[in-house]
Amino acid sequence: MKTPFVTLPQVQELVKTYPTPFYLYDETGIRNCARRLKAAFSWNPGFREYFAVKATPNPQILKILQEEGCGTDCSSLTELMMSERCGFSGSDIMFSSNDTPAEEFQLAAKLGATINLDDLTHVDFLQNTLGFIPETISCRYNPGGVFQLGESKEGFQVMDNPGEAKYGMTRAQLTEAFTKLKALGAKRFGIHAFLASNTISNEYYPALARILFQTAVELQRETGCHIAFINLSGGIGIPYRPEQPENDIAVIGEGVRKAYEEILVPAGMGDVSIFTELGRFLLGPYGCLVTKAVHEKHTYKEYIGVDACAANLMRPAMYGAYHHITVLGKENAPCDHTYDVTGSLCENNDKFAIDRQLPKIDRGDYLVIHDTGAHGFAMGYQYNGKLRSAELLLQTDGTVRLIRRAETPDDYFATLVW
Ligand SMILES: *Cc1c(COP(=O)(O)O)cnc(C)c1O
Repeated sequence: MKTPFVTLPQVQELVKTYPTPFYLYDETGIRNCARRLKAAFSWNPGFREYFAVKATPNPQILKILQEEGCGTDCSSLTELMMSERCGFSGSDIMFSSNDTPAEEFQLAAKLGATINLDDLTHVDFLQNTLGFIPETISCRYNPGGVFQLGESKEGFQVMDNPGEAKYGMTRAQLTEAFTKLKALGAKRFGIHAFLASNTISNEYYPALARILFQTAVELQRETGCHIAFINLSGGIGIPYRPEQPENDIAVIGEGVRKAYEEILVPAGMGDVSIFTELGRFLLGPYGCLVTKAVHEKHTYKEYIGVDACAANLMRPAMYGAYHHITVLGKENAPCDHTYDVTGSLCENNDKFAIDRQLPKIDRGDYLVIHDTGAHGFAMGYQYNGKLRSAELLLQTDGTVRLIRRAETPDDYFATLVW
């Protein structure tokens, strides 16, 4: 069972000021999660989490994470600009992008961010763009093939397809890139890889760490480059479905520590810092989309029409992603109705749930769409002229603060030429 972090009376009070739909984030949940992550890797003195800004690009969220000791992981010009305005600089910023425009490398270098190169050709591109190579530099590795973990009767626990992914360099290219970067003046090196997304397994990070640690030992021997950090990137998932188990970050941290002791320490590399770039794990469960049932429709199926749509939350339409729904005030009512919960887009995939067992929903009921704190608002768009919603923060003292106002038609029209 999934319990929302907000109650019906709280929402009834909130809608007096902020009409639905809106996103709501839970500061306490975010801070506690950041602290659990930090504790899990406290064995590594250089450990740092670089929050993946793209998951939840809001300055107030970034400032909370900054207070918890996190840096930011940026992949675009505006994410870099937002980080700068929030007071991140230098080694607080990781720049992990791909197909990167020159101006983004320029801003990243100006801020002193650690640049993570996605491709071998970017070595020359960076040298030509900046006129120099920064002393600290990272390269993204893609081992190719298929990445899988933990076979059981139901299939593999984790399976993804790096060989089909556009990201990263081959193993041979890593050696070439390191050699070249060193000749051009780089002094502190890092390696990075992101091999599987939304993993529900305590084995993913340790397995990835083993691959990267082994690769780091080889690279240091082959090229003489000083490897200062290893970036395990994102990919730790959350249980979107109530029956799914949760990852245990303490177990994950311990698994990475074991690999570190077995591979890096004997190679004389016990000074390597571990970095992470988690987005979903840190924010996903601590945000929800609150929406109101405005219509019901009885045709070949039973439909509940809500005031949010796929333009506010794209994951169900784009990936068929499951997001749990709670009808506020009916938390304990029997789920004896079967509904499609829809938005108003002229697209039949605009459904937050299909054939979902829910309590009887009446018009005016408030629905909480769970686990939308990461890659939720951020993936919003404006199809059908829909406007982006507000974002609210439920603060640790129990008060609610507006952290992004809802768009108005004027915002939508602002870029048009009449
Ligand atoms: C998206 C992304 C992340 C965050 O991924 P999550 O699945 O949210 O943990 C981290 N690093 C890079 C380079 C990414 O593109």
